Amino acid sequence: MKRLGVIGGTGVYDLEGVEEKKEIKLDTPFGRPSSQYILGKISGKEVVFLPRHDLGHKTSPSSINYQANIYGMKKLDVSKILSVSACGSLNERIKPLDLVIPDQFIDRTTKRKNTFFENGIVAHVALAHPICNSLAKILEKAVKATGLKSHFGGTYLNIEGPQFSTKAESNLYRSWGADIIGMTNFSEARLAREAEICYVSLSAVTDFDCWHPDFGEVSIEVIIKYLQKNCTNSKKVIKQFVALEDPEADCDCHHALKNTIVTKPEVISKQTKEKLNILIKKYIK
Ligand SMILES: [Zn+2]
Repeated sequence: MKRLGVIGGTGVYDLEGVEEKKEIKLDTPFGRPSSQYILGKISGKEVVFLPRHDLGHKTSPSSINYQANIYGMKKLDVSKILSVSACGSLNERIKPLDLVIPDQFIDRTTKRKNTFFENGIVAHVALAHPICNSLAKILEKAVKATGLKSHFGGTYLNIEGPQFSTKAESNLYRSWGADIIGMTNFSEARLAREAEICYVSLSAVTDFDCWHPDFGEVSIEVIIKYLQKNCTNSKKVIKQFVALEDPEADCDCHHALKNTIVTKPEVISKQTKEKLNILIKKYIK
């Protein structure tokens, strides 16, 4: 049976209304995930939840083991991931407390392990459309059902962090056409694509970064003020999303690795094959 995965960001460390709750501690060939996974049922559907910064927010964006987090989701038969995050706005139209479903990313990270394909195996998956379109449409329906203000589409600029941007950077990113700014989602989206898991992001806006002349410099106090409200709103959306989405429905994302592994099977070591077995078994024996 396939499951829906939910990754919780800043402020979202648990899910509401989970029945038959179980905690699963996993180890993976890529190390330990951020926290234990919570398995359970919402509206009769199997859901897997992971708080990306761990309980109590112990892990910074650069220290998150993204490989382990996504590998663990794959191991738990997750076919689709809804990722929930706090973000800043780089766009006048997108205001604090709005929800955004981005459809593009720009990567400004420098310290991340962004692929499962290393150490003797190479694959080049397509990322022109890094967000799953069919999952994004379901998420849009879910957001509309809550009546919250939302924006469908937009470019998420992923910085390394943990510091926020300088004003010059913030203005540069705006000139590139970026709409929102965050520290985690693109690393997850890259790995989810390689793991053939659909991925969509629900980004809840806490601030205007530091570019907006009327709002001044971003401060953690301002962000915390909006976080609680965003957290309540995101949980409403998650509930709707789970009710609408079918984890068993097929998608192009579930075949993303097809014809992308360029390494000849006979030169891939047994060790690498074993390590990546749950990702590549359809294509390489
Ligand atoms: Zn998909």
